[in-house]
Amino acid sequence: MYIVRTRAREPRRPRAHYIVHMPPARFPPVYLDANATEPLRPDARVAIAEALDVTGNPSSVHGAGRAARRIMEDAREALAARFGVRPADLVFTSGGTEADALAIHALGGGRRVIIGATEHEAVRAAAPGATILPVDRNGTADLDVLASLLGERPPALVCLMLANNETGVIQPVADAARICDRYGSWLHVDAVQAAGRIATDLKMLGAASMAISSHKLGGPAGAGALMLASEVSSIAPLIAGGGQERGRRGGTQPVAVIAGFAAAAETSGDAGTLAPLRDRAERAAVACGAVVCGGEVPRLANTTSLALPGVRAETQVIALDLAGVAVSAGAACSSGKVARSHVLHAMGLGPLAGEAIRVSLPWNATAADVDAFAAAYSRMALRLARETPDADRRTLVD
Ligand code: PLP
Repeated sequence: MYIVRTRAREPRRPRAHYIVHMPPARFPPVYLDANATEPLRPDARVAIAEALDVTGNPSSVHGAGRAARRIMEDAREALAARFGVRPADLVFTSGGTEADALAIHALGGGRRVIIGATEHEAVRAAAPGATILPVDRNGTADLDVLASLLGERPPALVCLMLANNETGVIQPVADAARICDRYGSWLHVDAVQAAGRIATDLKMLGAASMAISSHKLGGPAGAGALMLASEVSSIAPLIAGGGQERGRRGGTQPVAVIAGFAAAAETSGDAGTLAPLRDRAERAAVACGAVVCGGEVPRLANTTSLALPGVRAETQVIALDLAGVAVSAGAACSSGKVARSHVLHAMGLGPLAGEAIRVSLPWNATAADVDAFAAAYSRMALRLARETPDADRRTLVD
């Protein structure tokens, strides 16, 4: 939400008016970090504003509570239809991290847990003792290894993301689900980056569960969902409490946030139209010596991972930020420090794992954004090349 100051002589208007009609904030001028958070979609803004005017706890039995509940259940129905589950099999959470943690807590108990080497921290942290499934140089999980791991000791819970947050690489999730099925195992899919960008349907993927997040598809931060196959739908909660979400997640649901989540999901769709802009950004960076990580396999059309050999990711992010372009380094800790990317490391990219930035185009990206990025990137690369002694420069990875 924006903090709105009313100018002295301006008549006061209802707050919702400002929320709906204020032009979208564009700061920094060029925002290319959609995989961190997407800009709010206009339909989501309207849905939030309308729902904020409804006072009521969705668990209350009186009319006000029922009105709030109606908004929440409409959102549940829309999201369930969009992502291939029954409404009763969708559990609202606070976001993608909690949805992943809930799935692993509920479905991993008593089972061996196997996770892809490039999974997000949300999965890694929730499965500390997990067996790691290796990926190839393009970041694609090795399904032969998966089959032999499952053959050794079923049943397991396997966690494989649909699209990677750093490279955009799309995993062969439906194939993995078939292998899991053969060995009586379950597949949890982290679809946080895929949802709203490529076809994402639990039934079609054949997974047991799937996590999505509102702010990654143009809704507000603060809501996510765990979708469950009907056979595993009655799970134990990670957070107990008031019995909300059919006893699977305690805590009063944020109705307005959920309304915005569903509205954003309905307007989000195919990010494929962003591919020409992504390719244009890539060509500009490659012309300056950048290497595209994971560029030879199917990827999200909005995402590219660009390594500049010999230049630390953090240095690049800061230089671009000073030029008014927001991108991110592969893996930023909550402290704001940049760590070497475990994703690129797992892909065997050696030192490039500390030298790659992620450019992720938002749904409203324009050609002008990409041109501004290209200009800032080439100025940065030229300056850093001048400042980096020849001895420190590398052009190829080992
Ligand atoms: N999974 C993936 C692949 C992500 O990229 C993220 C966030 O970056 C998460 C999970 C966590 O989602 P949230 O920020 O909604 O907790």
